Amino acid sequence: MANAYAYDDKNIFARILRGEIPNDTVTETDHTLAFNDIYPQAPIHVLVIPKGAYVCADDFYANASEAELVDFARTVARITADLGIQPGQGGQGYRTLSNAGEVAVQEVPHYHLHILSGRPLGRMLQKAEDVRG
Ligand code: AMP
Repeated sequence: MANAYAYDDKNIFARILRGEIPNDTVTETDHTLAFNDIYPQAPIHVLVIPKGAYVCADDFYANASEAELVDFARTVARITADLGIQPGQGGQGYRTLSNAGEVAVQEVPHYHLHILSGRPLGRMLQKAEDVRG
């Protein structure tokens, strides 16, 4: 499948990956970097990003190598284990989410998965009538 995405290498996560701006690293592997969100929306708010140039979830899942995909998934598992939030291990649980494109208000055009925990997170989505802009 042809890659329909043009990657903008000036985005802030590309700059983090190039070491141009600092980040609060949680963990790093050959293919994946995880760091704390600069504006945390919960006591635990970690961003997991592939090191490769992927714009959003479908770009990453369709076009990344198997090594990148497996590394990313296993890194998410390891982070949730290290944070003690896995519900299967007695942890309080967590939410992962990823915004893609305009309707989801994706701010940074480099694929990232949010891991949120540390407080009750409420229901998954606001009702449409509660959403303003
Ligand atoms: P999204 O709206 O899904 O694209 O989320 C982008 C996230 O990146 C937001 O939660 C921001 O707070 C976060 N963010 C932006 N700049 C930085 C940065 N320099 N370091 C860490 N997190 C950042």
